[in-house]
Amino acid sequence: MTTQPTASHFVNGAYHENAGGSAIPVIYPATGEEIARVHSATDAVVDAALAAARAAQPAWAAMTGTERGRILRRAADIMRERNHELSVLETFDTGKPYQETSVADATSAADALEYFGGMAATLTGEHIQLGHDWVYTRREPLGVCVGIGAWNYPTQIACWKAAPALACGNTMVFKPSETTPLCALKVAEILTEAGLPAGVFNVVQGLGDVGAKLIADDRVAKVSLTGSVPTGRKVYAAAASGIKNVTMELGGKSPLIIFDDANVENAVSGAILGNFYSSGQVCSNGTRVFVQGGIKEAFLDRLSVRLEAAVIGDPQDPKTSFGPMVSERQMEIALGYIAKGQEEGARLVCGGKRLNRNGFYLQPTVFADVADTMTIAREEIFGPVMAVLDFDDEAEVVPRANATEFGLAAGVFTRDLTRAHRIAAAFEAGTCYINTYNDAPVEAPFGGSKLSGVGRENSKAAIEHYSQLKSVYVRMGDLEAPF
Ligand code: NDP
Repeated sequence: MTTQPTASHFVNGAYHENAGGSAIPVIYPATGEEIARVHSATDAVVDAALAAARAAQPAWAAMTGTERGRILRRAADIMRERNHELSVLETFDTGKPYQETSVADATSAADALEYFGGMAATLTGEHIQLGHDWVYTRREPLGVCVGIGAWNYPTQIACWKAAPALACGNTMVFKPSETTPLCALKVAEILTEAGLPAGVFNVVQGLGDVGAKLIADDRVAKVSLTGSVPTGRKVYAAAASGIKNVTMELGGKSPLIIFDDANVENAVSGAILGNFYSSGQVCSNGTRVFVQGGIKEAFLDRLSVRLEAAVIGDPQDPKTSFGPMVSERQMEIALGYIAKGQEEGARLVCGGKRLNRNGFYLQPTVFADVADTMTIAREEIFGPVMAVLDFDDEAEVVPRANATEFGLAAGVFTRDLTRAHRIAAAFEAGTCYINTYNDAPVEAPFGGSKLSGVGRENSKAAIEHYSQLKSVYVRMGDLEAPF
């Protein structure tokens, strides 16, 4: 195995162990074997991390943006140099194939550090002239931010939150998902090696109770969660009682509409990327695939052929293109939905079974003839299960696509230019795609509407969510008063 983190937590610039908390076994999804063990943070560890973040914040904010940015960009360079090692670790943590992790995880994290590192020096307020008087605004950090991550992109999530937060002069305590605790520790290690002052980025392990303790603490000004809607409700409510800022990156059940005039191969590629990448464990997946009547058979035929070309196997083998699910529990959830799909009358086109090998492998699964009311068309599965629904025309399909409580992403495949933009405008979703699916470059805002979230990650928009404006009124002459 690759170089592993050397302790459970990273606090005040160094690895930190405290075996007093309950043990969290780290299971390699490809074998089901325990490969490491960390300990949940005790109250003392939580307090030490928050105290370190609080103490470090004023000096970190007092540095110039250029100085802060240089450290983040140096960390990006180190991540890229160690991409292989970090990708191997990401694969051990999540089970995602190395073919994916080597291009989508540490690299995406490095992009965020580079982008926000570059932006740090450009963050300014503005000058507002009022006759002889004037107002100026200062863009100030919020203070101590808490990041709480899901298990599907542990390196990326840590950096998508830390990079804008740190660029703005905040400090952070990050709690990874208990399912994938290792990668965020390496992020902390690399940031420290790049020159980040002690206490600016801390990692503590634990389950939801540790996350809840972090959010409830008076020293915390903001919480950014990537997780499910039920967890989002709890975290949002807890933050609300302290009037804390939030970013919520939550779940989805996104539509992908394929019109008769679409290029079939591109549409199939979009459906594969939007359903089977990371074994379907991607929040923005387009799992409700609406296919127009004229292209349906061609689409399903090509999809079946191309799914047979998936290389399922050892995720550390660079040839493997489809790996296990993250955990036995997640696989059981997906199997439960597959059973529901069959019970409710959807037609199983391919897959549907657990593979006969160690680890948590589920076949890429496609259901056709899915009705809008079926459970597999309404609930987020977070596994490799695609639901194909029929439609006749645009007027019918757009309201159906929007008829969901979620609003994370949506996509359309068509060669009709005006229709593509009309539909993108009509989609009730934060992140929309035309003739592509699931791109998430750091330059573009990413996030959801409706139950899928609040706020945006990535891009200039993220700065708004990690800073606050102070207005300073300046009077140049004498001041009159009524008495
Ligand atoms: P969960 O909502 O189960 O957990 C998310 C994180 O919140 C975990 O670290 C979890 O800890 C923690 N947590 C749980 N309860 C609380 C609480 N009461 N207070 C504070 N923290 C808490 O999500 P999963 O990890 O299962 O991830 C899958 C979900 O994440 C899916 O719904 C998916 O759509 C969504 N997601 C959204 C993305 C987006 O950008 N919109 C991207 C990726 C995933 P622990 O699990 O250790 O107990």
